[in-house]
Amino acid sequence: KGLIGSILVAYLAMKWTAPSFDPESLKGARVLVTGASSGIGEQMAYHYARFGAQIVITARREKVLQQVAERCLSLGAQKALHIAADMAIESDPERVVDFALEKLGGLDYLILNHIGPTTFGMWEGDVEHTRWLMKVNFFSYIQMAWRALPSLEQSKGSLVVVSSLLGKMTNPFTLPYSSTKFALNGFFGSLYHELAMKKSNVSISICSLGLIDTDSAMEKVRGVTNVPAYPATEAALNIIIAGATRQLDLYYPWFTQPEDN
Ligand code: NDP
Repeated sequence: KGLIGSILVAYLAMKWTAPSFDPESLKGARVLVTGASSGIGEQMAYHYARFGAQIVITARREKVLQQVAERCLSLGAQKALHIAADMAIESDPERVVDFALEKLGGLDYLILNHIGPTTFGMWEGDVEHTRWLMKVNFFSYIQMAWRALPSLEQSKGSLVVVSSLLGKMTNPFTLPYSSTKFALNGFFGSLYHELAMKKSNVSISICSLGLIDTDSAMEKVRGVTNVPAYPATEAALNIIIAGATRQLDLYYPWFTQPEDN
């Protein structure tokens, strides 16, 4: 199924649940996407590029980022800049936001998506790894969000957090990862209420994804599960639409959404 098919599926899914998506609204939008050197983040960068956005992308691998940025320009991005950063380093989250604010003159969308590598298996007491993963997958998110909030407030912008069904339900074999996603859901779900109390202009979207066919995810689950994996490009588009339509919760694929009691 091509891009048009994906847009159509995402559009139809949204039509019943959310205000309609206007692709024109993303033309010239100032966007920062983290974890954009591969997987869903990379696909989000390409979609934003096709919509004519101004993009800053980040991850650790500079050379790969450069290639992604070049492709974004060829796809139609008004701007595509990159900055290498390691989100486990205390000062890098703020450094990245400052770079984007300076280069783009503000932000309309902050898309928090990166995750550090982790193993799939029984927890054997590796507290240090869990602490490190918490820095990468959680603390850097709250640092970046706090740094970007004043600009998002000015632009009536959107904060998009990429989370997981493993941040909603407990399961074996992914304890450190799952903990970071529960932390994200708790923090940003609560921040949503505080922003509402302050009558803030900023929207929050929390995206709970099922299994997506990125290389890193497929490598982990190969031979372990036969649950179908959904396409990264479609997941990416659904996340972008959730942000653009200021939807609080996105479940992708849609049938993973828990039923209301
Ligand atoms: P990938 O593993 O494909 O991409 C992870 C990205 O994070 C890469 O760009 C990587 O680039 C970057 N990254 C890794 N470590 C660091 C670090 N220390 N500092 C900065 N950047 C880092 O992930 P996916 O695309 O599969 O997942 C994207 C999001 O979707 C995540 O939030 C994930 O939890 C969520 N999700 C994914 C699912 C799936 O099945 N794929 C299921 C549910 C949720 P580099 O190595 O260059 O730093």
